[in-house]
Formats: sequence, C-alpha cells, structure tokens
Amino acid sequence: MIGIWKGIVIHHSASHDVSANTIDRWHKERGWQEIGYHFVIRANGDVEPARSWERAGAHAKGRNREYIGICLTGKFTEHPPTPEQVTSLIHLVRGLRSRWGAEKIEKHHDQCPGPMFPWAFFSEAVKRG
Ligand SMILES: [Zn+2]
Repeated sequence: MIGIWKGIVIHHSASHDVSANTIDRWHKERGWQEIGYHFVIRANGDVEPARSWERAGAHAKGRNREYIGICLTGKFTEHPPTPEQVTSLIHLVRGLRSRWGAEKIEKHHDQCPGPMFPWAFFSEAVKRG
C-alpha cells in the first residue's frame, strides 16, 4: 500500500470518449498488467475508478510511485474537455488532496492533456477549494 501521494498528474486519453474498461484493454494489449491510471473521467462527467489504490500507477515515467494518475477521455489537442468533465475533475482533485495530501498538480507533458485543456482555469479553481 502506498503511504503518501506527492501529487496528481492529469492526462487526456487522446481518443474518443471511452470507458475505463476500454483503456484497460488497450493497456493490456501493450503488455501492461492493467490500466495505468487511477481514475478516468468520461465526457458526461462520470468518474470511473480504474487502477487500484494498492498499486503505483503506470501513467507518467518517473512520477508513477508518487503521483495519482487521472485521465479525461477526449483529444484535447483538437477540442476542449466538456464542462462536466472539468467540474468532476475539480471535485475529484479537491477530494483527493484533502484526503491524501497530493499537493502538486501537474500536466503529463506539453501535449497531454493537450493545449485545449483549460489549465489556468482548472488550477485556480482547485486552489480555491
Ligand atoms: Zn498523459
């Protein structure tokens, strides 16, 4: 069991709106044990639990042991997330931080979650929580 979460890494799926089960299948096809993210947030705002809390993630090289991985479905290089997704993400991040610490909130990299993701709005909203 992991004791301390240092932060949270935000991703997009770079795909259409798919379930955590579908991403789980994709990741297994790559030879991984299971889905690499801890949570998936669908276009309608539903939060789907994914990888177990018992295990480190497999979503951001060098950060997997200390960072919770959250993936929003969609391709934010081409379109923004839905307002429902952003709202659910803000609530989820606030909840995780109040329970687990997880102070640092980071993008995966420049193109993930993608330039259409409203990073400034999201970071401000999370701070206000
Ligand atoms: Zn990513």
